[in-house]
Amino acid sequence: MRYIPYARQSIDPKDIKGVVDVLGADYITQGPKIREFEKRIADYCGVRYAVALNSGTSALHAACFVSGVTKGDEVITSPISFAASSNCVLYCGGRPRFADILENTVTIDPSEIQKNITYKTKAIIPVDFAGHPAELKEIRNIARKNKLIVIEDAAHALGAEYRGKKVGSCNYSDMAILSFHAVKHITTGEGGMVLTNKRDFYEKLLMFRTHGITRDKRRMINKNQGQWFYEMQFLGFNYRITDLQCALGLRQLDKLGHFLERRRRIADFYKKEFKETDAINCLEEKKDALSSWHIFPIRVKRYRDKVFQRLRSKGIGVNLHYIPIHLHPYYAKLGYKKGICPKAVEYYKETITLPLYPDMSDAQMKRVVRLTKNAIDEANSN
Ligand SMILES: *Cc1c(COP(=O)(O)O)cnc(C)c1O
Repeated sequence: MRYIPYARQSIDPKDIKGVVDVLGADYITQGPKIREFEKRIADYCGVRYAVALNSGTSALHAACFVSGVTKGDEVITSPISFAASSNCVLYCGGRPRFADILENTVTIDPSEIQKNITYKTKAIIPVDFAGHPAELKEIRNIARKNKLIVIEDAAHALGAEYRGKKVGSCNYSDMAILSFHAVKHITTGEGGMVLTNKRDFYEKLLMFRTHGITRDKRRMINKNQGQWFYEMQFLGFNYRITDLQCALGLRQLDKLGHFLERRRRIADFYKKEFKETDAINCLEEKKDALSSWHIFPIRVKRYRDKVFQRLRSKGIGVNLHYIPIHLHPYYAKLGYKKGICPKAVEYYKETITLPLYPDMSDAQMKRVVRLTKNAIDEANSN
């Protein structure tokens, strides 16, 4: 029996041709494919501006930077996420604050955000966990009242919907970020994007991506220089993505609808199959949201470790999302205590991520269900 990984990219001959065509073109790094990819994603999400970068992590860093996050500022985010969601605050010299999660969707709890707001708070980074949008409307309202910027970490949620609009539309956020890492909905190998409706953020994001340099005459501090002129106005980075990668992204985007359909079908099957199994709880999908199902975490009340090991030994590549960020040694050293987010720690003790990716066959998803139920039964009978 072949090993079933928890996630896997889906690459076909059209993807390969897209990349190879660019290799023979005039531009392989900063060419027309980047703009084309940005425009296609912006149109798909229903947002005005898109800036592609070389990773989702860079996208988070860029969004924090243009939000003005700096030394002395605090930014509130979820402990149940990839470390990048809060590392971006540290990159800017700010301090992340972790607000505990809601049990049903494992997204950040708006009332916990409220409790963590201080005079130092600058922004909120909600995470659309597993593909399910966070409580974006409530979060937007809190942000407005307290003059905070909302950076939506939508790395899991390309294709998800919230209150009738696509995630990434920035209807309830100032910026949203995407990731195109190989395990995400569409891939460019490594890659990311910031989406926004705000022109000022957009222009700064473009500069941040390339050393803080602008060639835009209207933005120059020293006016009326030669045609050769460009200006570095702040300390940016080389966070550029390449035309090769965006060519892959464009071909992947052609298949996004199909990818999402398949992911939802597998998730619906899992949910239906585990409904009667008391020992397994799935994440809730709320009425105002449509998840894009990036991952499929389940909660098992007892014997999580045994069930996990059992599944791995049977060739099921289960995984775990996530170790609460504040428990990592680096964060512990910064002074974060385990007790700050008890629900997140409780979730961490119970969770297992089951395999979910578009190329998974019906036979494979059935096998995952059967072996998961068996593993639960065995753990409970020993
Ligand atoms: C994948 C991911 C990122 C970072 O994306 P990279 O492209 O890997 O840098 C950020 N946040 C979350 C929640 C992610 O899952």
